[in-house]
Amino acid sequence: MGILEQEIEIKFFYAILMKSNIFALHLIRFKKPKARLCLQWGFIIYFVFLGIGSMTPNLLYYAIPFFVLLLSIEAWFTYKENRNPYDKKDTFSSLGLGIGNVLTGFLTKALIFGVFAFIFKFRLFNLDISKWWFWILLFLSDDFSYYWFHRISHHVNYFWASHVVHHSSEHYNLAAALRQTWTGNATGAFLFWVWMPLMGFPPIWVLFMQQISLIYQFWIHTETIGKMPSWFEAVFNTPSHHRVHHGSDLKYLDKNHAGILIIWDRLFGSFQKEEERPHYGLTRNIGSFNPAIVAFKTWGELFRKAFRSGSLWTGIRYFLHPPGWSHDGSTKTTRQMIEEYNNSNIH
Ligand SMILES: [Zn+2]
Ligand SMILES: [Zn+2]
Repeated sequence: MGILEQEIEIKFFYAILMKSNIFALHLIRFKKPKARLCLQWGFIIYFVFLGIGSMTPNLLYYAIPFFVLLLSIEAWFTYKENRNPYDKKDTFSSLGLGIGNVLTGFLTKALIFGVFAFIFKFRLFNLDISKWWFWILLFLSDDFSYYWFHRISHHVNYFWASHVVHHSSEHYNLAAALRQTWTGNATGAFLFWVWMPLMGFPPIWVLFMQQISLIYQFWIHTETIGKMPSWFEAVFNTPSHHRVHHGSDLKYLDKNHAGILIIWDRLFGSFQKEEERPHYGLTRNIGSFNPAIVAFKTWGELFRKAFRSGSLWTGIRYFLHPPGWSHDGSTKTTRQMIEEYNNSNIH
């Protein structure tokens, strides 16, 4: 290719970039153009990084500086515009929970890799990673596993005790994305993915795709982006869809469990559109900013309830039933709350 053609191509590329830039600017809800530009470019760099860095198995660690940078931009400008979705204690609590998750991950990821590698020995198929369809299959299989992991985490106390951490902030901002469990890996969240090495997906690529999903889910934790274009909202998980997931309002509870693709929620009947602004957090909030208390309190409560129930079977049922379940009706599950609400509206 000659220099002239190259130049034309570069100019064309810039023209497209500027166009999409101006378009994307309208999606961000900051009043000041400078603030919008800053956050928007932050996101663009983060997506470029995701593209380039996607051949690194330890991708997540490289993403962390971008997470901190982006949430600082969001915190600074929302503070300037007096909107303040950031609370100092809440933000440090989120950061602490994120750090704890990375630290526990050092140990547990190695163990999970070992389990996956063992299962991989008994694989049913030899999947060829040099074929394009391998990556499509890997992506869809991971996202499908994530959906069910996440949905069941909201419906079974044993998994909820770990996942509750992610819902513990009453604010919705990029920092809340860092609120991740300390106990999920050790208590078997990876079981939802074990079928993948058995099918023949190499363990390293299963772990890699989980990281891509986690990194993708960072940018959707913001109120600074309204709705994405409708074709995007139809296929992908977006800030709007995920705000619903973090809502504690009755109609928003246990909805939108998607990782990257929202299609699973649409397919399996758990989709809810964002209507009024959600009230973020839990129906009964943890009431602490101490990361260790947030990470373990629900486990403590679960064991206490199980022991106090008086019988082994009732105790076990506490672990298997949805959050809010009680043998004596003293607390209620989402379904019971919805039924109660519907009945009270009929009479
Ligand atoms: Zn959740
Ligand atoms: Zn979330």
